[in-house]
Amino acid sequence: MTIQNSMKKDLSSKKLFELAKKYAYEYLDNCANANVYPNQQQLKRLEEFNTPLGTQPTPAEEVLRDLHEIGSPATVLHTCGRYFGFIIGGATPVSLGTKWLTDVWDQCGGLYVSSPVNAIIESVCEKWLIDLFQLPPASVVGFVSGGSMANFSAMVAARYHLLRKLGWDVNKKGLNGAPKIRLVTHRQIHASIRKNLVLMGFGDEQIEYVRSDDQGRMIVGELPKLDETCLVFLQAGNANTGSFDDFETVCRKANMVDAWVHIDGAFGLWAAASDRLRHLTKGIEQADSWAVDAHKSLNVPYDSGLVMCRHPDAMINSLHAKGEYFIYSQQRDPMLFTPEMSKRSRAFELWATMKNLGKSGISEMILAFHERARQMEAGLKAANFNVINEVVFNQVLFSMNNDDLTEALIQKIQKSGECWLGGTSWNGKKAIRVSISCWQSTDQDIQHAIRVFKKARKELVNR
Ligand SMILES: *Cc1c(COP(=O)(O)O)cnc(C)c1O
Repeated sequence: MTIQNSMKKDLSSKKLFELAKKYAYEYLDNCANANVYPNQQQLKRLEEFNTPLGTQPTPAEEVLRDLHEIGSPATVLHTCGRYFGFIIGGATPVSLGTKWLTDVWDQCGGLYVSSPVNAIIESVCEKWLIDLFQLPPASVVGFVSGGSMANFSAMVAARYHLLRKLGWDVNKKGLNGAPKIRLVTHRQIHASIRKNLVLMGFGDEQIEYVRSDDQGRMIVGELPKLDETCLVFLQAGNANTGSFDDFETVCRKANMVDAWVHIDGAFGLWAAASDRLRHLTKGIEQADSWAVDAHKSLNVPYDSGLVMCRHPDAMINSLHAKGEYFIYSQQRDPMLFTPEMSKRSRAFELWATMKNLGKSGISEMILAFHERARQMEAGLKAANFNVINEVVFNQVLFSMNNDDLTEALIQKIQKSGECWLGGTSWNGKKAIRVSISCWQSTDQDIQHAIRVFKKARKELVNR
């Protein structure tokens, strides 16, 4: 049988998909009892993937079986309620179901003509998101792979816009000899901003750093005098403490001189979608651009980031591509708002989750992260751990009495397999980082985690 015929058979018999479904259900059912992190033995088995590429085909059933037998047990249970590492999010059931269905569609979301359904769903999401975050109505949204690309897209739009106003068309003339753009931010800005600046041809030494306070917020009293050449970066949600910058004060100063303010709100901007947490994002609507991840706090599957910008012309001019065979339409052409051309139609899962939850459901899910974080804080304090940060959103930092013990505790907790979290350094000391960003985390999970922390500490101290 030719390979084409064999694939046609796989497609029409649907047995393969039934098998995938069976494995997926087995995986879901196992999750409740599995370790949050794979053990040494499960990790060791991953070496079995390391074979040469065979000359002959491998039956599709066998391929899936290998993935399930070796891969499934070695996954990290991001989607369970006791994974507190990084800021990962989970996946809502409706977003998973949507992904299954729309993966079969395999839509290329670059242009309206390549996928009208994607373009229309993006337009609807754009309206919903601007309403949800209460941003200026004329703002546009680009659907990118994550927070890094969202930041990047906004930053190139800002560069284009600022230089244009200074009489320099960066698309034509490039950066050599361009008027200077002043880059202003603070020490606790996320690494993705710095990385993007380097990708854009700026250097770290060009950044004017304002000091930040003990929660990682810009000390706005020390902001240098801004002018129309300034690109200012602020943050909604510090990746360690969860703190929010003072958007209102900085935006007011920036807007008086026509500087551009970009807000990196990868996980924290979602606070704006909760009535009770909205105060944290006060003033965001006065900025020029915003980056946010749907794959973090909104709990849609990876990869899903959003860039939002109040200057459609700057976005389109900086990201627009010309090519003889492109067919732009009178409708929304998604690739006008993203660095990518061909891209996965990632708006489907976003649309499905927003439609399924509604404003009240989104608000409830986001607030629950905060409530679980407050519960964690209270539990840690009651157990005499040092809680280091003000728990304003979903992040909790705590420590033992010295760095060695803190590090040892992290190792013990990670090895337990009962939950997973990572470490960081805060104000010069080692700290343990808890991030609550998965819809599955319940108050029992938090209680369970605190028991695990106490047990690990006891074992350490009694050694
Ligand atoms: C996660 C994160 C990013 C990077 O986003 P990715 O989706 O990982 O590319 C940027 N900024 C902040 C504050 C983040 O938390």
